[in-house]
Amino acid sequence: MIFDTHAHYDDQAFEEDRDSLLASLPQNGIGNVVNVCASVRSLQRIIPMTEKYPHVWGAAGVHPDYADEMTEDTLSEIRRISHNEKILAIGEIGLDYYWHKEESEHLRQQEMFRAQMDIAREEKLPFMIHSRNAADDTLRIVKEYVKDGMFGGILHCYSYGQEHAREYLGMGLMLGIGGVVTFKNGRKLKEVVQMAPLAQLVLETDCPYLSPEPYRGKRNSSLNLHYVAAAIAELKGISEEEVIRVTEENAFRLLGIPNAKAF
Ligand SMILES: [Zn+2]
Repeated sequence: MIFDTHAHYDDQAFEEDRDSLLASLPQNGIGNVVNVCASVRSLQRIIPMTEKYPHVWGAAGVHPDYADEMTEDTLSEIRRISHNEKILAIGEIGLDYYWHKEESEHLRQQEMFRAQMDIAREEKLPFMIHSRNAADDTLRIVKEYVKDGMFGGILHCYSYGQEHAREYLGMGLMLGIGGVVTFKNGRKLKEVVQMAPLAQLVLETDCPYLSPEPYRGKRNSSLNLHYVAAAIAELKGISEEEVIRVTEENAFRLLGIPNAKAF
């Protein structure tokens, strides 16, 4: 079944139909979903959501957009939540220089990125990284941690070129592939997908954002991941079933889901 490694179902966009949508996923071929925290507020919402559904898991962390709002208490909260058995990773964490252009903001983001990578290392959890317009700084920091015997992780919504991809793949990390791979202007990502071993790709929606074609611009959900799997299959010259099966195994292996086959 499809494994959606990166979703934001706590987002406002799902206010009307969150429960019915989440409940309907398994009968529509979506076996598991990781709901990933982005804002500081989403840390409070994550555990109740994962407790409600056996197929919904969580990642605890704060997105670089909110680096300024983070305090020591936020970091303690992430660490506390990470002990819950439904929390499989630390994320999403990283660097975003697209929306934040000041040097002081970059330094603050790096400080919070490192503080959360420290938690991932100490708690032996994989990490989920958001990186936009910050290719070299992200790679440098990830390299430091991987050298230090880090557990593994996902470059979520991978958006850089083949050169950086080879570095991450060489460290044994996974690339998260979503709707962008179906876009006409997604050539750079298509080349990365062709080059990368299937054993290091995972599927993700980043919903409610980044709907694949033919729904580009509309609200996204895990139900659209068939289009992403089909696009990867075409690029690699294999079947959609194989893409779904191998990416699910990759997610199970990385995230260490207990009794994975039971779902
Ligand atoms: Zn996200």
